[in-house]
Amino acid sequence: MLKDAIVIGTGFGGMTAAALLAKAGYDVLTLEAANELGGCGSKFDRAGYRFSAGATVGMGFEEGGMLKRLFEELDAPIPPMSKLNEIMNVYLPDRTVTYFSDKERWYKEVASKFEQDQERILSFFEEVFKVSNVLQNFVEKRAIFPPSTASEYFHLLKSMDVKLLGLAPYLTQSVQDRLSKYGLTKNKPFLTFINGQLMDSVQTTATFSPSLLGYMALSIFHNGAFYVEGGLASIIHALSEVYRASGGELRLRHKVVSIAKQGDVWTVMTKRGQVFRTKQVIMNAPIHNVFSLLEPELHRNLPIKEPKEKEKDAWGAFTLYIGAEPSFMMPETSSIPFHQFISSYDSPLSEGNQFLFSMSQEGDTRFAPTGKRSITISTHTNVGKWWERESYESRKEEYMETIIDSIDKRFSSFSSHIDVKMAGTPVTFKRYTQRAYGKVGGYIPSGKYSLLKSYSPNSGVEGLWFCGDTVFPGAGSLGSSLSGWMVADAIKGKHPRQGM
Ligand SMILES: Cc1cc2nc3c(=O)[nH]c(=O)nc-3n(C[C@H](O)[C@H](O)[C@H](O)COP(=O)(O)OP(=O)(O)OC[C@H]3O[C@@H](n4cnc5c(N)ncnc54)[C@H](O)[C@@H]3O)c2cc1C
Repeated sequence: MLKDAIVIGTGFGGMTAAALLAKAGYDVLTLEAANELGGCGSKFDRAGYRFSAGATVGMGFEEGGMLKRLFEELDAPIPPMSKLNEIMNVYLPDRTVTYFSDKERWYKEVASKFEQDQERILSFFEEVFKVSNVLQNFVEKRAIFPPSTASEYFHLLKSMDVKLLGLAPYLTQSVQDRLSKYGLTKNKPFLTFINGQLMDSVQTTATFSPSLLGYMALSIFHNGAFYVEGGLASIIHALSEVYRASGGELRLRHKVVSIAKQGDVWTVMTKRGQVFRTKQVIMNAPIHNVFSLLEPELHRNLPIKEPKEKEKDAWGAFTLYIGAEPSFMMPETSSIPFHQFISSYDSPLSEGNQFLFSMSQEGDTRFAPTGKRSITISTHTNVGKWWERESYESRKEEYMETIIDSIDKRFSSFSSHIDVKMAGTPVTFKRYTQRAYGKVGGYIPSGKYSLLKSYSPNSGVEGLWFCGDTVFPGAGSLGSSLSGWMVADAIKGKHPRQGM
């Protein structure tokens, strides 16, 4: 039977597109290689605990927020979650900065923790908030970027307003350029703090982060950050429920191994040899996976070329999954779910020198038995070395030790409270999320102009669409979901259901 659309993958991008199309009456089939939904936003159960596989910080559910609007559009209940006032403690080598959602408290916090440059820092953040407000309005209109068809150009132009045009000078500047305008590049603790935040969102530091992308990232917590009960996988599961209730078909453990086109019909083949036919293919695997799936004759129309694909920079993740009894922290600290550790001002913010520690909250029994907590820790890592077999196990031990030592330095009895611990590497991510080479989190911006070099959700091959963190508008659950929404919009616009 000919499907209206086949979605490959159930990450934030794929599940968003699938749910929107099914809700609008399209006949959709979603194929997922893994046994679990959600890719980098998924979960797994071990030894009486549930662990978030990767993503932990919920965003976009504030009034008017992107995911809140998505659930409204789908007329679906939002999973239980709480908006955080104290979002994160950031442990720098000589001070702790608490990330408050409320702007006034945040201004007071930065002024007291970076006293030396407080006036300049406050002015910098005022600019960050002003610029990102304008950008937010634009992004919400879901124009496909970069545009390639007349209708995409038209939608893009329609989404722009005078205020957005006023941001043109920022297009040619990095965050570092802006910090330099405020005389803040010599303040090492502040710069490290900013770089730590940018690494977790934009995947690079101020020097290479386009200012507009960086400003969105630096303001996002102040729109709202959320603790989602049971982890971000609860959001994916809620989307899958709407999808199924709307008639969408979902098959787990169905890995797609090839995509080919005859006339205007696509055939999608799975590892088990099943063949499905459709008019539209939505690929939620990263763009760098496409070469191993798509028939070679169609490669020439793609935005990236195969030899370049291997070099395209993206981080891997080294993760630790720990089940623990939480009394190593004071109750007021353990009620903050997110903790960023930065051990040294002089080392790169990766490979264990910087990591995010996310802990389930008291009473969230989806995650851990009463009195225990589930912890997911992640640090950025260079993927290449994890594919060297000889050093794999010793490297894993070494990373585990480095991270646990850092936590022990801050919370002295941490290791003695551990019940269960497991590590994940780029090899693990490749195995469970299919991401080629274990590259996660979207591509690393290469400098101030990299926003202009984003990849479009429109693949350039008629009927093939991309969504997820390797295409515009970029990384994280929010960006991935938004790209899925753009794809659903585009398909609905081009191929309306009869009678709709
Ligand atoms: C360690 C870590 C921490 C993170 N922390 C956060 C955070 O706190 N907050 C946040 O918002 N974001 C975070 N992110 C980023 C966020 O998780 C990702 O950007 C987002 O989840 C990616 O979604 P995606 O749509 O690109 O799909 P992916 O997550 O890549 O999922 C794609 C899915 O497609 C499936 N698939 C791929 N190929 C095939 C195939 N051939 N056949 C069938 N199925 C296939 C995969 O199995 C997978 O389930 C984090 C990422 C990592 C790795």
